[in-house]
Amino acid sequence: MSKKLTIDDIEVMGKKVLVRVDFNVPLKDSIITDDNRIKAALPTINYLINQGAKVILFAHLSKIKTIEDQEKYTLKPIAQRLSEILKKDVIFINQTQGEKLEKSINSLHNGEVLMVENTRFEDLDGKKESLNNEDLAKYWASLGDGIFVNDAFGTAHRTHASNVGIAKYSEIAVSGYLLEKEIKFIGNTINNPNKPLVAILGGAKVSDKINVIENLLNKADYILIGGAMMFTFFKAQGYNVGSSLYEEDKLDLARDLLFKAKGKIILPIDCIVNNSFNNQGEIQEVLIDKIPNGFMGLDIGSATLNLFAEYIKQAQTIIWNGPMGVFEMSNFAKGTSRLCQEITKNKKAITIIGGGDSASAAINLGFENEFSHISTGGGASLEYLEGKKLPGISCLTDKMESNVNI
Ligand code: ADP
Ligand code: MG
Repeated sequence: MSKKLTIDDIEVMGKKVLVRVDFNVPLKDSIITDDNRIKAALPTINYLINQGAKVILFAHLSKIKTIEDQEKYTLKPIAQRLSEILKKDVIFINQTQGEKLEKSINSLHNGEVLMVENTRFEDLDGKKESLNNEDLAKYWASLGDGIFVNDAFGTAHRTHASNVGIAKYSEIAVSGYLLEKEIKFIGNTINNPNKPLVAILGGAKVSDKINVIENLLNKADYILIGGAMMFTFFKAQGYNVGSSLYEEDKLDLARDLLFKAKGKIILPIDCIVNNSFNNQGEIQEVLIDKIPNGFMGLDIGSATLNLFAEYIKQAQTIIWNGPMGVFEMSNFAKGTSRLCQEITKNKKAITIIGGGDSASAAINLGFENEFSHISTGGGASLEYLEGKKLPGISCLTDKMESNVNI
């Protein structure tokens, strides 16, 4: 993997710097319900302000298919929230192209911040943003002084005009601090982990994680499996899984993975079952080969947690993706919660969470500051764990290649 230029490698004083951020925050009736993504971009934005750059922010919000979507998903409330957090004006322009945008950008002073309207508004007209339309990419790049900073890890697995496109038509494209942190933790860990590497996988489906499992089989020393996906592995070995969630069409694949794993895959020995998909009911802990008919497994059991703890203790690197149970229901959150405890007890290991639900589980359960790194991208972190090259990172300028005066 070639090294990419970072924001620390460039001179930005007085320059119009184009910055792609990930502000795709959850909204309820136009109110932001979680502004973590905005806060995550602050190191980059504050650095550029302090260095005297003219900061021009690009971001997307949701998907835009209709005119109504445009009204619903304007970035105006996000610009307001950013302004509150920065304690500084953020000039919001309700255009993605046009004279007002160009004039406002050209009259920016050093250290000022401007936000362009939702980049996906361009999708209404032939999906220009999402299909990386050349003309749009050229136009957006022309608004700056040749410097592009990508800090949007959440869309790094996409080839869009506002990341890969602008990068192509800018003289120099670098990572911001947030993207840099994702590259350092996930990218470098996957490519060159401190061993032993213990991967812990859970979540709903094997089918979502096939490529992650395959990639980690080559890199990890052990793969601990929980979540509903364990039942596909058990069913594949002929166990009765009751009414637990499993994937009939993935049984062959599960057998194949177990064969290839040569003992690397560690499965649970007990689980918590219930007679319905509910927080209440006839909840009990049973051994894996004793799941009663009509009962479904909704969490891993205490013997499994002790078993997993033994592997976690020895690890130098721990990568976790996918909750151990239905953590959204309090009676089935214990597996995930104790897993977080066991992982964060290991102070010598680099500990990484990739995956949207796992990240929110860890944060909600109070472990936000205990991990080395909690990835900010759901789909992007999964593709990164699969060992894929992310276009939003590949498009950045290589350290050696750069012959621009910086
Ligand atoms: P991530 O977003 O971290 O990659 P996933 O999306 O793969 O994780 O999986 C998260 C979902 O898996 C959660 O909604 C959780 O309720 C569900 N899940 C975990 N264990 C079970 C189980 N035993 N039965 C049904 N659903 C489960
Ligand atoms: Mg998920």
